Amino acid sequence: MEESVKVLIIGSGPAGYTAAIYTTRANLNPVLYEGIEPGGQLTTTTAVENFPSYPDGIDGPELMARMRQQAERLGADLRSGTVTKVDLSERPFRVEVDGEKVILAESLIISTGATAKYLGLPSETKFRGQGVSACATCDGFFYRKKDVAVVGGGDTACEEATYLASLCRKVYMIVRKPFLRASKAMQERVFNTPNIEVLFEHNTVEVMGDDTGVTGALLQRTDGVERTIEIAGFFLAIGHHPNTELFAGQLELNEEGYIKVEGNTSKTSVEGVFAAGDVKDPNYRQAITAAGSGCIAALDCERFLLR
Ligand code: NDP
Repeated sequence: MEESVKVLIIGSGPAGYTAAIYTTRANLNPVLYEGIEPGGQLTTTTAVENFPSYPDGIDGPELMARMRQQAERLGADLRSGTVTKVDLSERPFRVEVDGEKVILAESLIISTGATAKYLGLPSETKFRGQGVSACATCDGFFYRKKDVAVVGGGDTACEEATYLASLCRKVYMIVRKPFLRASKAMQERVFNTPNIEVLFEHNTVEVMGDDTGVTGALLQRTDGVERTIEIAGFFLAIGHHPNTELFAGQLELNEEGYIKVEGNTSKTSVEGVFAAGDVKDPNYRQAITAAGSGCIAALDCERFLLR
């Protein structure tokens, strides 16, 4: 059975919920599908201390529950379900949910987010949220004056390592190649920071820990030599996957797969389709920037529908 809606929002992180809050208040009766991870990446973090208006911090899942509650109280139609197919070739756009239900949408707001890459070690999964993190800006504060490691040699890894170096006693960078991939400027910052030690040609064999969380990591150099480092935090900075597989071939994406938008707007290459949050943002990736871009997408969408 087909259903017609004015605004369909795909994804339920800060961008999606904010877009729902704004479009509901504009009387556009949005429908939002929450996807496989309702609440998005923040539901996998603990305390969030950098989201304004929470002077004592707030747990990631609670922050998302509050955003959801706010959207729901205002009247947004929030549904569990995952969008499995979209056809953006004509309006209304045809959207399939859970492989069966079909929705015809006059406009779409895509806020499907991005997923941090992990190494795939069972020990890394075990300590996720207990010392293993993919966001130094979110979690670095908890490791003040302790030793930590950052995996990766790109700009993000360098940025996160220098950020952590300002809080932590020592930062190891675990880099699998004999060089950093990051820009020269970022590399210089790393090499000029005395409490960062770069371990080139090292891979992580295992993250070690106990009831208190991460206590160390077993590393192996490419020549086979193993060593253990004692650390309290293990940060991944090996890139993110934007969740854009559904839109490939239909929307313009950049080389890394992020949705391209026009300037500071949320407008994608297809009229009536807007993108918000990490799915279009490889650079900032913060809850507050995602929420802000959800607002932008809602306003762009409202103007589009009013035309
Ligand atoms: P990148 O893809 O640039 O770098 C990923 C890093 O992780 C590489 O060093 C890569 O190693 C390493 N890596 C990947 N997989 C593994 C693995 N399984 N085990 C160990 N190491 C691994 O990602 P970034 O997130 O750093 O950057 C993404 C984009 O965002 C880039 O274009 C970057 O320039 C940009 N950016 C810009 C910033 C700025 O200008 N301020 C800040 C942050 C990001 P290898 O080199 O061997 O492949």
